[in-house]
Amino acid sequence: MTRNISVRLTKLFINNAFVDAASGKTFPTINPATETKIADVAEADKADVDRAVEAAKGAFKRGSVWRNMDASARGKLIYKLAELIDSNVPQLASLESLDNGKPYEDSVFDMGCASDTFRYFAGWCDKIEGSTIPSDGPYFTYTRKEPVGIVGQIIPWNYPVLMLAWKWGPALAAGCPIVLKPAEQTPLTALFVANLTKEAGFPDGVINVLPGYGPTAGAAIASHPDISKVAFTGSTEVGHSIMAAAAASNLKRVSLELGGKSPLVICADADLEMAVEVAHNAIFANHGQNCCAGSRTYVQEGIYDAFVKKAAEKAASRVVGDPFESGVQQGPQVDQEMFNKVLNYIKSGVEQGGKLEAGGKRKGDKGYFIEPTVFSNVTDDFKIAREEIFGPVQTIIKFKSLDEVIERANDTKYGLAAGIVTSNIDSANTFAHAVNAGSVWINCYDAVLPQAPFGGFKESGIGRELGGKLLWMSTPNSKLSPQRSRISK
Ligand code: NAD
Repeated sequence: MTRNISVRLTKLFINNAFVDAASGKTFPTINPATETKIADVAEADKADVDRAVEAAKGAFKRGSVWRNMDASARGKLIYKLAELIDSNVPQLASLESLDNGKPYEDSVFDMGCASDTFRYFAGWCDKIEGSTIPSDGPYFTYTRKEPVGIVGQIIPWNYPVLMLAWKWGPALAAGCPIVLKPAEQTPLTALFVANLTKEAGFPDGVINVLPGYGPTAGAAIASHPDISKVAFTGSTEVGHSIMAAAAASNLKRVSLELGGKSPLVICADADLEMAVEVAHNAIFANHGQNCCAGSRTYVQEGIYDAFVKKAAEKAASRVVGDPFESGVQQGPQVDQEMFNKVLNYIKSGVEQGGKLEAGGKRKGDKGYFIEPTVFSNVTDDFKIAREEIFGPVQTIIKFKSLDEVIERANDTKYGLAAGIVTSNIDSANTFAHAVNAGSVWINCYDAVLPQAPFGGFKESGIGRELGGKLLWMSTPNSKLSPQRSRISK
């Protein structure tokens, strides 16, 4: 672990080489704990997206090394990348904490999740099968699974390496070349991993990484005529524009992993200590910067007051500080914009009559640190109960019955995740089946695993990531359309 890690890789990664942006432009990346510049990074724009797509086309053309590679060999390359991530954890986790502000131990955890994700998908490479179909007439009918083509990927800043792994794993397993834009707040670790792909031996042009801004480089990816699929994780607002750009350009396939306002229901029959712990981690993990954060804590009357008291004590004891200090649980928010946004939500919670039980202010006077904040006395119409805050703000709302809370839990444009803490299996199953959410956790939260699918209902997104059926494959020659059952739970 080192906060003084030297930052060597700051250029665009195109065709297995680090190059300047066509415009020569750069942008600063900031350390959110100190508000100081870490490095200037090459700033990609449309011309660079075009260059990267040309490189990817070369990698994907018929007869290329990549197209001719055995599926099992593709798997070995991905395994090799997973090993390289594991052997570079101190450097990667240090860079991640420097650029994003998350505690070093959390960054180490993320790297393990990323390499596990790559291992999961490495195993898929030679298990992607078509089928034969007993069709009418004198015909032999079969399906083949084909890589969809060049995949454009746009990722956020909250889990920079992990989101990269979620995007790269399936695309590489399917044989697709990649043009990825990391978030402008956190470009450094994507460039580091790009360098590892070169070391692993991925052929030229298979992986391209373009740091830059959304409305320029990101928009150029979403509307590029030679990109066959765009995979996006970020805000619902930008998700709308990605889909519009895909429709207006070449009808590229789209998968969207967007925001959430996920309900976590605490029943009166729950073990109180366990419920407080689950709810605390559900909202405060990653400083609340988590698309599936349990950001509406519904607590049944009867235990409401006792729950609020314990939740406030727990939040007040959360250790906030320097991400590189051992034992720190929460670092700064990612940037000035998010810092201001979260503080404004806290202000609105107070103005609407919420009772501040813990926190509520900036912590210190340098860096984007915010006190872990707990509100009670909140009702469903509060802004903080309806909109995604993406910060360390727990909103505790009272409910009476399970039927009533199910209706209220579903009264949102989002549907990414949900949770319930109860000792009654009937309540757990009833809730899990009735709530509109892609993932539902029972007596736990945030159990996101490479083997299980992940994705949202409603405006939380389209498509599923991670494990399960191969929704990420195209089936151009197929009469089958793989369908996931209603949800992944
Ligand atoms: P964002 O959606 O603006 O950014 C996510 C990614 O999209 C970044 O790489 C960004 O450069 C890119 N982007 C932005 N505008 C684009 C455009 N017009 N075309 C193509 N790409 C574009 O998210 P943000 O500003 O970083 O955060 C704002 C809000 O988004 C947060 O408050 C939170 O609610 C939500 N968010 C959700 C997730 C998630 O994991 N679902 C992650 C980050 C942020």
